[in-house]
Amino acid sequence: MADVWTPDTWRSKTLHQVPTYPDQAKLAQTEEALATFPPLVFAGEARRLKASLANVADGKAFLLQGGDCAESFAEFRANNIRDTFRVMLQMAVVLTYGAAMPVVKVGRMAGQFAKPRSADNETIDGVTLPSYRGDIINGIEFTPEARIPDPDRMVRAYNQSAATLNLLRAFAQGGYADLHKVHQWTLGCVAGSLQGKLYEEMANRLSETLAFMGACGMTSETTPQIRETEFFTSHEALLLPYEQALTRIDSTSGDWYDCSAHMLWIGERTRQLDAGHVEFLRGVKNPIGFKAGPGMSGDDLLRLIDTLNPANEPGRITVITRMGAEKIEEKLPALVRHVTREGRSVVWSCDPMHANTVKASTGYKTREFDRILAEVRAFFAVHKAEGTHAGGVHFEMTGQDVTECVGGSKAVTEARLGDRYHTHCDPRLNANQALELAFLIADQLKA
Ligand code: PEP
Ligand code: MN
Repeated sequence: MADVWTPDTWRSKTLHQVPTYPDQAKLAQTEEALATFPPLVFAGEARRLKASLANVADGKAFLLQGGDCAESFAEFRANNIRDTFRVMLQMAVVLTYGAAMPVVKVGRMAGQFAKPRSADNETIDGVTLPSYRGDIINGIEFTPEARIPDPDRMVRAYNQSAATLNLLRAFAQGGYADLHKVHQWTLGCVAGSLQGKLYEEMANRLSETLAFMGACGMTSETTPQIRETEFFTSHEALLLPYEQALTRIDSTSGDWYDCSAHMLWIGERTRQLDAGHVEFLRGVKNPIGFKAGPGMSGDDLLRLIDTLNPANEPGRITVITRMGAEKIEEKLPALVRHVTREGRSVVWSCDPMHANTVKASTGYKTREFDRILAEVRAFFAVHKAEGTHAGGVHFEMTGQDVTECVGGSKAVTEARLGDRYHTHCDPRLNANQALELAFLIADQLKA
């Protein structure tokens, strides 16, 4: 790998999963325009997240990362953003209160548009068209026109990300996330469920605690941590022309940061050591994640860690394992031992979604809630056995009452998947399933 890095050195590498735009002149003009747009996040914020993740790597905090598989132009609504944010707040409070551990909150939001696909084409009723690659690239409609990659979509995605981030910042800092409002975060669809009741009980205890603290002089006014929270954004850094255009030099440190999000990750399909995505991300100073599936060996893992984090800086690397409930106990220990033996600092996070995807008999792509739970439980068990910190989780979830994953205490059955199946890509946990998982994780963290 070349030592010299600039924001465009990825262009001379092999590229996986990057679309070919038919209109190259328009692509170049769009990239130029985007490069003049304001950054979406600041380098200082990315550094703060890195410091928080260093705490996670050190066993002192927990990472909660979640949101849509794919954001879409069609589902761009204030209520959708608010409800996902709300469920993440609820999950975080369950974890913080239940396990007495600070929770670092990172949304798969405000930029999670580009999707890697297992096949370049899709065939329906004998008609073959290029695959849908996320709204930032092409359209989901099954027509030849919609499936043509269009650079204008990058500008629309940028604008939607800016508006989403603006609302998230307002929610996080403008009073919505005040712990005194813990009861009001419950969504209607959760209120009557078992998890709704458990949450209510915990919220009552939390309110009592806050009243006690208030009597001692610690109020929203004196203690900003009660009044507001920190919420970070992340997405898969897949569409490199877009990521490069948002990559800027930080005036304070002189370093390059990808200012499209606080944290970026590399997907399972684009983490080849000598290819474009690793090349691009090794040069930006943001905290970086990558997915690690069952095919990854301990040596592969170390080489990737060392390429992306040669100085072994804590908080820089989050290893997001996605082994599948069947394979995690067989595959994860070797990876953990390799990293521990070589003294590398990483955050271990569990994505229990992506290797537990199945096709229902009705044709829907789905995930069984029990398999998701099983992978999370095994993740904790492995880290306990290895003496390492189970540092975080990575979920696809929404605040909406969707029927995309089967199971859960308010059971979604296979027959009901069609009722509210709205995802643009992979099946997400609904609000109640997400809260159910949070309670399970709080128990694991306490154990
Ligand atoms: C994703 O996170 O949506 C994804 C595509 O994951 P992976 O790269 O692990 O398959
Ligand atoms: Mn996905």
